[in-house]
Amino acid sequence: MREIIIIGSGPAGFTAAIYAARAGLNPLLLASSVEAGGELMNTTEVENFPGFPEGIQGPDLMMKLQEQAEKFGTEVILDDVTSLHLDGDIKTVHTGYSGTFEARSVIFATGSAYRKLGLADEERLSGRGVSWCATCDGFFFKTKTIAVVGGGDSAMEEATFLTRFAEKVYVVHRKDTLRASKIMQERAFQNEKIEFVWNSEVVGISGESAVEALSLRDTVTGEQSELPVQGLFVAIGNDPRVHLVHGQLDLTADGTIAVQGRSSKTNLPGVFAAGDVIDPHYRQAVTAAASGTVAALDAEQFLAALDQVEESSRVDLAAALADEVDDLVAAD
Ligand code: NDP
Repeated sequence: MREIIIIGSGPAGFTAAIYAARAGLNPLLLASSVEAGGELMNTTEVENFPGFPEGIQGPDLMMKLQEQAEKFGTEVILDDVTSLHLDGDIKTVHTGYSGTFEARSVIFATGSAYRKLGLADEERLSGRGVSWCATCDGFFFKTKTIAVVGGGDSAMEEATFLTRFAEKVYVVHRKDTLRASKIMQERAFQNEKIEFVWNSEVVGISGESAVEALSLRDTVTGEQSELPVQGLFVAIGNDPRVHLVHGQLDLTADGTIAVQGRSSKTNLPGVFAAGDVIDPHYRQAVTAAASGTVAALDAEQFLAALDQVEESSRVDLAAALADEVDDLVAAD
């Protein structure tokens, strides 16, 4: 049985692994078989992770985090967790093809998944012009006219990145102000290839075998219009990945895993959560990393307390046995 299993391979998971490994807990980190490394694998330049004044590419940062975790003894397995049993003293983790693992503690750091618009044609045209990842698919839109939907940092980042390929990028946003940080907004405003379509919601996507146009609805007047584009990048945020723990871990109203105060402690003893899966607000690589640290320290304390309890019950048992032997000897 393992001391600790970490589920998730973003900044939270790997930072938890670095701390747990340095504490001698030999963690097992289960990274997804297809999405290992988390969201930073789909990012280009990361300019705000402390310690990298020149910026660092998202995938390079993740490789460095993994290298650091492995250097101290983390075992990393690329496999998908299919189900979990978190109740009780022994936690059981079932995976796709690597079998079942048991541990005395689990850190759940599965991050979040791209939010969808929820339109019928979104799925149908996924991979045929509809995408959630500019760095993955931007190349296919050379000299095309495309749209990005959203008003946050992701949308600004995607739109700006996509101007490397596309001839024109519309940013469709449901309000007339952006949620994105000032620096990202400015970068997008100054880009001549980007045009903003304010107060507009995407209510339909048309095209037989590929995206041909978007149906937009004006959120102020209710008027409908068509925007001819060959691609749509959806950048409207993320939802925490909690499907594996439904019914086991308490959730907040935001859908994130509920933790006690500033700790990583969930409603189940020995189960800790970290990163975007507990954070509806900040959702930065560096806050996820810090959250991973908290989880590793909480897990370490939990295991130390458990060792103490087990040690004292061993001592009690030995004393009780000794008394019994003494009684038997006296009775003879
Ligand atoms: P956000 O939640 O910040 O923004 C989501 C945007 O999508 C909002 O403008 C929101 O509109 C809009 N939106 C949400 N749902 C819908 C919908 N159904 N239809 C239309 N529009 C919708 O998510 P992000 O992914 O942009 O950012 C998440 C976090 O990651 C943030 O903390 C951000 O700072 C960070 N980030 C940082 C980056 C960097 O620093 N390099 C890069 C990317 C992300 P509304 O404003 O009306 O709510």
